[in-house]
Amino acid sequence: MKPTPSSLPDTPSVLAFGAHPDDIEFGCGGVIAQETRAGRAAHFVVCSRGEAATHGQPEQRVAEAQRAASLLGATIEFVELDGDSHLEVRAAHAITLAGVLRRVRPGIVLAPSPAENQHPDHSRLGRLVCDAARLARFGGVRELKELPPHGIAQLLFYALTREAEPKIPPVLIDISRPEIIAAWVAAMEAHASQTSARNYVEVQLTRARLHGLGAAVEYATALFPADPLVFTSLSGLGRGARGF
Ligand SMILES: [Zn+2]
Repeated sequence: MKPTPSSLPDTPSVLAFGAHPDDIEFGCGGVIAQETRAGRAAHFVVCSRGEAATHGQPEQRVAEAQRAASLLGATIEFVELDGDSHLEVRAAHAITLAGVLRRVRPGIVLAPSPAENQHPDHSRLGRLVCDAARLARFGGVRELKELPPHGIAQLLFYALTREAEPKIPPVLIDISRPEIIAAWVAAMEAHASQTSARNYVEVQLTRARLHGLGAAVEYATALFPADPLVFTSLSGLGRGARGF
């Protein structure tokens, strides 16, 4: 069966969700930079203004996120759910996010990993996006009737820490090109309220370096598919990670 045009366009856009203003940049900013430079549209949906953070005021954090998104070539919007550190997994939120998916109609969706040992907003948003991707396909959801159903091609989780990486083999995206690393670092450093407090940039670069070394490339971002990936032949599979 052929994929429908709405679910698998030639260059499907990427939609990335973040619980806080800096999550997408720190978790998968290099991947976004690489995709937008290859001509793919990217859109960010951020579900709080970081108002519960130790450092930075909400207005500043929104401005930092807007600047970081533009450095990565992405558009951005903020969707208020329960607020920073108060996010709950509820059907109403999944329906709200499903509405976003129907409006933006992305091919690939990135969301924080649902692993438990991290900021609770991250894991809860990961679960909500998983539910939203399902509800976006269902024709009969009353609140979503205004927009036609939409099936995404893939949901991939990103992790913000080693502890948040799901215990499954990742898909490794090679982001080694110097201009991609430079764009990623610039986007992370745009969150000066956070990077001036702790060395988050080095943490993320080190994680990417470790994943890269394991795969015999300079830098790689680990993404974790929510569902088995489907290929039409073995040739699309790339190669296995064997750096040592
Ligand atoms: Zn966060």
